[in-house]
Amino acid sequence: MTDQDERIPRDFSARDPEEQAAFLENTWCNHCQEIDLGMTDPEEYELSGRVFVEGKCAKCGQPTITEIADDEDDE
Ligand SMILES: [Zn+2]
Repeated sequence: MTDQDERIPRDFSARDPEEQAAFLENTWCNHCQEIDLGMTDPEEYELSGRVFVEGKCAKCGQPTITEIADDEDDE
């Protein structure tokens, strides 16, 4: 149970285009304190068994992170 903080990169662009678009729209920006502002430059990664998409807020350019709820359990 080490390496808890290690990011495992994933290929966001491999997702279904509609799925990508949905993730890029359904965002929360801590800086703007608003939802659904959108993000740019998405990067998908896994951390501690959870999947996140990190990008930049389309409005203010600050980092924004969305957790992806992934039902699949493939090791
Ligand atoms: Zn923002």
